[in-house]
Amino acid sequence: MPFIPRFIADAMLGHVARWLRLLGYDTLYYKSINDWKLLKIAKEEDRILLTRDQGLFRRARKYGVRALFIEDPSVEKVLALISIKYSISLEFNKEDTLCPECNTRLKHTTSVAEISAKIKKEIVLKYKEFWICPSCTKVYWQGTHWRTISLVLDVARQERLKILSKIKPLERRVSNGGA
Ligand SMILES: [Zn+2]
Repeated sequence: MPFIPRFIADAMLGHVARWLRLLGYDTLYYKSINDWKLLKIAKEEDRILLTRDQGLFRRARKYGVRALFIEDPSVEKVLALISIKYSISLEFNKEDTLCPECNTRLKHTTSVAEISAKIKKEIVLKYKEFWICPSCTKVYWQGTHWRTISLVLDVARQERLKILSKIKPLERRVSNGGA
């Protein structure tokens, strides 16, 4: 089975957590949690710690927790970096997405009966596909924010290419180092 990374984001990376969930990756995030507890959960649940705190990053490495230090918190750059380091997909998969609010796998549906009691009639009439969160009961659809989602993922894929074009020549130099 391929390795599917799971994450835990520090308090400064809530926006990244939401995006990773949207892309289908199990990501824990707490608005307020102490560093020790964050490390403990990461270790026990074999999660990759994403942090903007260099001190916490070093402690994680010392404690045997996989961690990624995030220097530039812009979401496109962070997603590009995580995609290179941990091979996450930068494509939205409508059958495999998690609730941005609570990290629960969303149920994709085209059945109006399932969602009509929970959202406004105009929305029910306007859209054909919906996602329901079985845990927090939120309903999602491809509304106006959808354009933003596609744009951000487009830019993230471009950032990924940019980073790869910078690191590839370096890797070649390293691997040819002995020749
Ligand atoms: Zn939810």
